[in-house]
Amino acid sequence: MTDAETPDDVVSRLAAVLKAIRRAERTAGRPEGSVTLVAVSKTFSGEEIAPTLDAGHRVFGENRVQEAQGKWPGLRERYDGVELHLIGPLQSNKAAEAVALFDVIHTVDRPKIAQALAKEMAAQGRRPKLFVQVNTGEEPQKAGVPPSEADAFVAACRAEYGLAIEGLMCIPPFDEPPAPHFALLDKLARRNGLKGLSMGMSADFVDAVPFGATLVRVGSAIFGTRPRA
Ligand SMILES: *Cc1c(COP(=O)(O)O)cnc(C)c1O
Repeated sequence: MTDAETPDDVVSRLAAVLKAIRRAERTAGRPEGSVTLVAVSKTFSGEEIAPTLDAGHRVFGENRVQEAQGKWPGLRERYDGVELHLIGPLQSNKAAEAVALFDVIHTVDRPKIAQALAKEMAAQGRRPKLFVQVNTGEEPQKAGVPPSEADAFVAACRAEYGLAIEGLMCIPPFDEPPAPHFALLDKLARRNGLKGLSMGMSADFVDAVPFGATLVRVGSAIFGTRPRA
């Protein structure tokens, strides 16, 4: 706790990340504002997040449904226009809570989840935007559909579950250059007629912009190092 971030640190790093995104858009010849910053606030408290809301930021990512339920309803009472993204794995028994709380879900990756989301969306009359997570590195411990099954899974989401899919999401392997993974995700998205690309984190969000990222998910570069990964 002695090394606690000050609110000023967090707000100035948020500004620096936004500036780097705008610069990368220009360099890539992409329209200003075509990349949205999802500020990943997992593990940080409402009190630690509040300065970024005071500074005008409204788009946030959380990786656990239960943790998000604990802090975002209160923040939403204080701040209008919050857009909340679920970026972590989703269990089908949490689909109801996820549909109720989140505006965008990045981690649709199996039929059971697609089915549970479709059912909850119908029941609640809410339509969070959905992304399919692709395990571009084919890592056994990582969530996501393998690249070779992405086309079929996107088609099944549409045809069998009636879900509109906005785009694809990936988390490249920690120890590999991310560019080939960004390129692969872009290729898979194009051939499925998908416009959204959720890719790029603190270490590589600038690199994701020329490959077409529409959402970058940045946590530690804004909020500081997390106590546990
Ligand atoms: C934690 C997390 C991030 C943010 O990671 P940083 O390296 O802190 O920017 C992005 N995406 C997912 C899926 C995460 O779980």
